[in-house]
Amino acid sequence: MYKALSGFYYVKAENNSCFQCKARGKLKKEKIKPFVGDKVEISTISTTEGVIEEVLPRKNLFHRPTVSNIDQLVIMIASEQPKPDFLLVDTLLALAESHQVESLICVTKVDLNNDIVDFVKSRFSNSKYPVLGISNKSLVGIENLRKYLSGKISCLSGQSGVGKSSLINTINKDVNFKVGDISRKIKRGKHTTTHSSLVEIFDNSFIVDTPGFSNISLEQIDIQDLPRLFNEFELYSCKFSTCSHTEENNCGVIEAVKTGDIHLQRYNNYLMLRKKIKQIKERY
Ligand code: GDP
Ligand code: ZN
Repeated sequence: MYKALSGFYYVKAENNSCFQCKARGKLKKEKIKPFVGDKVEISTISTTEGVIEEVLPRKNLFHRPTVSNIDQLVIMIASEQPKPDFLLVDTLLALAESHQVESLICVTKVDLNNDIVDFVKSRFSNSKYPVLGISNKSLVGIENLRKYLSGKISCLSGQSGVGKSSLINTINKDVNFKVGDISRKIKRGKHTTTHSSLVEIFDNSFIVDTPGFSNISLEQIDIQDLPRLFNEFELYSCKFSTCSHTEENNCGVIEAVKTGDIHLQRYNNYLMLRKKIKQIKERY
């Protein structure tokens, strides 16, 4: 289901035809609400209308806006304008890990400055995240990025101005997102309901039209879980299996930071996130 509006649900079938659906009364009774991203079973009433009979089990579910079954988070940073915020990048990566969502790091505006791509690659050299450089101006890297988006539901995230709306326009000339569109959506008043929908940018490849994790909520992360959310830390072994990698002896992670195998900035952001999570938990 790719769009929900005024009690109607819009569903794209496997044969690519689209149906405007209502939910079967029994779903309402069972308090099952279909969300954008849900895989559903429908019965058809006509060639364009149907009824949602069942919502299939979800891989994941995100709130504000509510979207389910996201396959990957595309974390975008600009080479310049705005200046990259790596704490935000590491926070988004940790949140994606905590939701079992894959991540991809996309450096935009490489037409302005290409050097940063190598920096970002080295920063993540021993983590599993792909790093791609792209430009909406010169179109460098766009074909490569399309391969990563193919057949998936992706969520574009990153600071406002990194080029999210521009990217959707670059990939799909038919959609026509106004530049700044995605960013404006999050700035809308708290009391306005945001209807998110999935935009099909090409064959069976969808993008959520609002940014992921717009309300970055570290509350959902347990401090004991944080080490595993920095996936390259798992490559090193420590004396204690519950090592927090902060002050323990024989800590493989601290050793790897010293030898440069783990990027110092990544480790410092790990410490920063620990501190922030602690502060949040202390408040309650
Ligand atoms: P969003 O807020 O993330 O959706 O970013 P926008 O797509 O609105 O882009 C913000 C600004 O960056 C606009 O002025 C775009 O023209 C510009 N921009 C987007 N992509 C590129 C790019 O690849 N290269 C350059 N030089 N500018 C870009
Ligand atoms: Zn350790």
